[in-house]
Amino acid sequence: MLKGIHILLTYMCNYECDHCFLYCSPNSKGTFTLAQIKEVLDEAIKIKTVDSIYFEGGEPFLYYPIMVEGLKLAKELGFKTGLVSNSYWATSVEDAKIWLKPLAEIGISDLSISNDAFHYGDEELNLSKRAEKAAKNLNLPLSSICIEEPTVEFEKDHKKGEPVIGGGAMFRGRAVETLIEGLPRRSWEKMSRCPYEDLEGLGRVHVDSYGNVHICQGLSIGNMWQTPLSELIKNYDAKTHPICGPLMNGGPAQLVKKYKVEHEDNYVDECHLCYLARSKLLDKFPQYLAPKQVYGLEYHISST
Ligand code: SF4
Ligand code: SF4
Repeated sequence: MLKGIHILLTYMCNYECDHCFLYCSPNSKGTFTLAQIKEVLDEAIKIKTVDSIYFEGGEPFLYYPIMVEGLKLAKELGFKTGLVSNSYWATSVEDAKIWLKPLAEIGISDLSISNDAFHYGDEELNLSKRAEKAAKNLNLPLSSICIEEPTVEFEKDHKKGEPVIGGGAMFRGRAVETLIEGLPRRSWEKMSRCPYEDLEGLGRVHVDSYGNVHICQGLSIGNMWQTPLSELIKNYDAKTHPICGPLMNGGPAQLVKKYKVEHEDNYVDECHLCYLARSKLLDKFPQYLAPKQVYGLEYHISST
């Protein structure tokens, strides 16, 4: 049952992190207009089960007035609201409070500060600390997301002494290009399930300004500018979806078997195999594997 809609307000970000699974950068295109946000909210009401609306990116504070207006509209319609930011704007606690005050006045339910920019250095960590302090001063509900460089551990009680990769990075998007070197790998045949996403129940989706409705980054159930979001959700059937069907039947291993995708023998994890297999199927399923920019392939011209 769909509970949450996460609006990818923009793919643009002031950073270009190694682990970004959406390949965001300062050059990324794809930003929602207010009219498009209103359309998503109208559809969210029609779906009836949705109770929360998040604004994310990219970096949503890059389009600050539209983000604030979108949060306000969502709140007025009775949704719980939240947002995720890398806190680049927290140049001092005092200034951060000015950025955050309108959000406190709206009464948002969650502010997630992501320390995504961990490798940019101490200044970026200070930014997130200042943002957290300002949020606490304003009594804003706060959570934080911290992604670190992948670590490899061999836990004694882990089955067959297999390595456990820590740090929180997902091996999709740019992380596949930048973070996998030297990490231990497992046989592709063992990648027989999707470990992270609720492919059947669709607890939440991410929507972008091109209309894609993502179950996982770059894995869409259709285009909401062509078919209304409420219809897409109502008609979604994981078993008949050309990518989710095989993933549910036997994980990324089944995906490569079904479409005879060329592959190597070993991968870091399920997402690594799934993401590379999907990259090779982009032209076969353009409606379901989109946009190409989250596969690092091309930047779209922003829709208007
Ligand atoms: S991981 Fe977060 S901060 Fe880094 S480029 Fe992506 S959206 Fe921006
Ligand atoms: S990349 Fe594939 S295996 Fe990983 S969470 Fe997404 S759909 Fe599941």
